[in-house]
Amino acid sequence: MILSDTHRQFRAQVREFVQNEVAPCARDLDRSGEFPWKLVRRLGEMHLTGIYVPKEYGGAGLDTLHYTIAVEEVGRICGSTGIFLAAHSSLGVFPIYYAGNEMQKRKWLVPLAKGEKIGSFGLTEPEAGSDAAATKTTAKRDGDKYILNGEKRFITSGSVADVIIITATQDPSKGYHGISAFVVEKGTPGFSYGRDEEKLGLHGSITSELVFEDCAIPAENLLGEEGDGFRIFMETLDGGRISIGALALGIGQGALDAAVNFSRSNNRDGKPLSKSQSIQSMIAEMATDIEAARLLVYQASALKDAGMPYVKEAAMAKYYASTVGMKAASMAIDIHGLLGMTDVYPVERFIRDEKLMEIGEGTSEIQKIVIARQILGK
Ligand SMILES: Cc1cc2nc3c(=O)[nH]c(=O)nc-3n(C[C@H](O)[C@H](O)[C@H](O)COP(=O)(O)OP(=O)(O)OC[C@H]3O[C@@H](n4cnc5c(N)ncnc54)[C@H](O)[C@@H]3O)c2cc1C
Repeated sequence: MILSDTHRQFRAQVREFVQNEVAPCARDLDRSGEFPWKLVRRLGEMHLTGIYVPKEYGGAGLDTLHYTIAVEEVGRICGSTGIFLAAHSSLGVFPIYYAGNEMQKRKWLVPLAKGEKIGSFGLTEPEAGSDAAATKTTAKRDGDKYILNGEKRFITSGSVADVIIITATQDPSKGYHGISAFVVEKGTPGFSYGRDEEKLGLHGSITSELVFEDCAIPAENLLGEEGDGFRIFMETLDGGRISIGALALGIGQGALDAAVNFSRSNNRDGKPLSKSQSIQSMIAEMATDIEAARLLVYQASALKDAGMPYVKEAAMAKYYASTVGMKAASMAIDIHGLLGMTDVYPVERFIRDEKLMEIGEGTSEIQKIVIARQILGK
């Protein structure tokens, strides 16, 4: 896909920022597992925390393709910072942008888009992962409040977020029609945190358990109408899949970049590895796979921007980009040989980070179900 000058210039700006400010920290974030507070603040200052949000609500007023390019470029260097950006923008910001009323947009969307507050989205529960409609968290109306009880897990940025959108059922007998979406603010009495997960990868990203025990929130924190929760989270996940596809693409591209650099600058039998036909074959395969993934991710973004259906394309983009990203990360390690398994080179980090792209926001199996349903009907 041929990008416009505007998109290409934007990519160059983001790339420069990432090279100068993210690249020097990426390895340390992975080693220390610390949340990248400084980078998060800089993402806000660079207007990257609300890229597609209109300027009147504190955003940059750009399109989905700009957002996709930003996530790809950040992910190419640092998966942890990339997942922060993707989860904040697609999961924390989007539901309020999509379903919030004017008061909610002024109160939460503006500071989220400006990067003054961190956003997060709590859908997954111990018994509600792929089947997110099986939520057990409850919300009971009590005068001008809702009382929340239940727990969420694997929530990106959960324990550092200022604003969290959660789903809860008001009537389990109604199935997904009983689910509503609520905004919960950090510090609300009855809202606490369980453990932050120790994960295979994305170590600089916080993944938290959230606990709600008779947690009273104002009734005005309901997003949309009662019973709108399922619609809101389905719409949120459709867009979120594009961003995880973009992150998977970026990490895969990072693995390819590393493999190219290594093969050019390391000799075997007196010749650079890049002169070997088998290495060339692997590089060609990785590059072709990644370019095809890029086309799918950009196509899904362009369809969303054009207001056209993009559910199938978003699921294809996430499924394909994470599949070929994993393959590219594995091949990049092969090209490095034993050194690829050490922390001297970034490829062992890329493969650990990329694996989570096949699971988060719906596993590859679930993406295939979504794609098949779009083709065959329910
Ligand atoms: C890094 C990371 C960040 C995350 N961030 C968030 C977040 O911010 N907010 C949030 O709410 N959640 C988040 N999640 C949770 C994520 O969305 C879930 O892990 C994912 O939806 C899968 O759910 P599960 O892990 O419970 O797996 P399960 O649903 O238990 O699935 C287990 C296995 O069964 C398969 N399976 C399940 N159902 C079916 C089916 N119907 N047909 C075929 N196969 C099936 C799956 O493909 C998988 O292989 C995150 C996860 C990760 C890894």
